[in-house]
Amino acid sequence: MMGNQFADIAALVADRNGNVIAEAGNNSKPPLGDPTQHAELVAVANAAKHVSPETLAACTLYTSAEPCCMCAGAVYWTGIGRVVYALSEHALLGLTGDHPENPTFSLPCREVFAHAVRRRASAVVQPPSAQVGNQSHPARKLLHLQRLT
Ligand SMILES: [Zn+2]
Repeated sequence: MMGNQFADIAALVADRNGNVIAEAGNNSKPPLGDPTQHAELVAVANAAKHVSPETLAACTLYTSAEPCCMCAGAVYWTGIGRVVYALSEHALLGLTGDHPENPTFSLPCREVFAHAVRRRASAVVQPPSAQVGNQSHPARKLLHLQRLT
């Protein structure tokens, strides 16, 4: 069950008009996956290959789970301006504990961004979980909710 529970972790990057620039699913589980290739990291890296730094600054990363410190670092280095997530890192840790398939950090991405020195840190938004619901692709649901506001 644990393997399927986190198979739906996904992320996308959208521009200020809600156009999806990059999208990725979680493909980081060993033995076939690369543990450094979280959906958030892949999505922001691909977005950075396709648009200018100015455009990235106005982009939002929508993700089903709060970016870990590695992915928050990728958000910082790409200069993406905003992060919207459904499940907090704390809640994810509560679900997984110290399970070997997802030994997550207990470090909110806000903490990582709070230590940014060189450029503006990304804004972080977590909509009420009731709005997101149990979606197969929460990142798309989050993008849809943002389009409505
Ligand atoms: Zn991550």
